[in-house]
Order: sequence, then structure tokens, then C-alpha cells
Amino acid sequence: MNRNQVLPQFELSAEPSALKRVDFCAPQSYKGAGFLSIPDMPRVAEEASAIIASDGFDWLVQTHFEDSPGSEPHQVLDLDLKGRLHLICQRCLQDCAVELDEKRRFILVLTEEEADAYPIEDEELEPLVVNQHFNLLETIEDEILLSLPLIPKHPDGFCEPHASTFSDDVGTEVSDERENPFNILKNMKKN
Ligand SMILES: [Zn+2]
Repeated sequence: MNRNQVLPQFELSAEPSALKRVDFCAPQSYKGAGFLSIPDMPRVAEEASAIIASDGFDWLVQTHFEDSPGSEPHQVLDLDLKGRLHLICQRCLQDCAVELDEKRRFILVLTEEEADAYPIEDEELEPLVVNQHFNLLETIEDEILLSLPLIPKHPDGFCEPHASTFSDDVGTEVSDERENPFNILKNMKKN
């Protein structure tokens, strides 16, 4: 019996507020799509150098069940993200548009223990601990933050180095001003 054909499919609301509370424990699969503007995602907005009205991310979520030998079928979640935000170009120090087109696949688990038991080498299928009021918006935000380039830059030849980027003083200021993405990651893992 194929679970995907038997269980109902739940249509996720595109409302950002509805994404903050999704019951991922119900016996159903999920599907949804929408657009999130930068202000819908406060942590992404914090990273953006400028908030342009047309910036933001199209998201697409779809889950399905996969049989796993010897245990209950697991639910797999596919997340597609495509969009744009503005960051400071580290060459000319002006705003530059950064396009992202990301695909992620998660296996939904209910406990931290289950997630810990998952082989860490399996980067293709990351465990995601969900519950009855799961904040999917936060996961989308996390994935955008993780996808940001470490050193955003305009394409080569597009801009000239800003005079002050040669000076050590200013260089230090620039790196202090923006939070190191590795720290963002560390803080995320803690939460
Ligand atoms: Zn530039």
C-alpha cells in the first residue's frame, strides 16, 4: 500500500503568519507555495543592506512518505527557494543584488534523539525535528541565511574596489559590522 496515495494532502497557506505554526504530526502530506518579502523574515532583513520592495523569495514545499525498511515510513520534505536580496558588495561597498536558487531535502523526525541517530554524513537528507506547531517560516529563514555568500560581490568587472577597502582600519570595521555567518550558524544550532 502506498501511503502517498492513501493519505490526504494538506495545502499550506501562503500567509507568512500561518507558516509560523504548522502541524507536521498529522497523518497527511503537505504542499504549498508562496512569496516571502524581506520584511516577512526579520533575521534576513537584518542581513540585507537595503530592503527593495521586489526583493524576497518564492518558496515551494512538498512532502511525501518514503518507506524505510524495519520502521515506520518517513516523511521527506522538499524545500525550493528562489529569490533575491541586497547585500553590501565587499569590493565597492555598494548594495549588490544577490540571487539565490536553493533546493533542500529534509527527513522529518519527531525528537532530537531521532535526529542525532541520523548519519551526519548524509548531507542530502538532513533531519528536521518537527512538532504540532512547527515554525516553517524559521526554517525557510535559516536556509536563506545559510545560503548567503560569505563574501558578497558584484560580478567581476562590474565595479571598482572602493578606495577604503585597501585600508586595514576600514577593512576591520566592515567585517565587524556584519555578523560572521559562522556565528549565525552556531547560534542557530544552539536554538
Ligand atoms: Zn561592487
